[in-house]
Amino acid sequence: MPEWTRLIRDVPDFPKPGIVFKDIMPVLADAAAFASAISALAQPWRDTPIDAVACIEARGFLLGAPLACALACGVVPLRKPGKLPGATLEQRYALEYGEDALQVQADALAPGARVLLVDDVLATGGTLSAARQLLERLQIQIIGGSVLIELGFLGGRARWQDAAPLHAAVRF
Ligand code: AMP
Repeated sequence: MPEWTRLIRDVPDFPKPGIVFKDIMPVLADAAAFASAISALAQPWRDTPIDAVACIEARGFLLGAPLACALACGVVPLRKPGKLPGATLEQRYALEYGEDALQVQADALAPGARVLLVDDVLATGGTLSAARQLLERLQIQIIGGSVLIELGFLGGRARWQDAAPLHAAVRF
């Protein structure tokens, strides 16, 4: 396993009993580990034309913005309801621990834009699939997904349905 993955901290029973939360904050707090993690997220996409990285509130923002700089493209936030001004589109979805929704600004991306979806953890896959469905409603081309951590035992990859390449920097 790459060195930076040692800084991923397992927090049992957070935010609910039975969930082992993968805390990436120690990775982000360490300059070398953070750089390695962003490099691992970017690695498969370096030769792929991408217009923007779309990242999911909130930990996805911490990865998506530096990833967009590394790939020399723009960044578009997918946010919890009520946070974005102007006209928005919304997609509801089920979480490993609850229910939620994502919104995007309706004019954030031009139809046909080539977008890479980014989040910190792929668990059941509901969040990333909802993000994909949301952007597809804007006629966005999802060229792939990149997550820092895939929890393979939760089967989230099956929900992605091979729509586009899905890259995980590390898999547990
Ligand atoms: P899911 O929709 O089940 O794939 O859940 C993924 C989303 O929930 C991501 O935005 C993660 O930040 C968060 N998440 C789900 N499970 C965990 C976990 N075990 N540790 C950290 N974050 C998680």
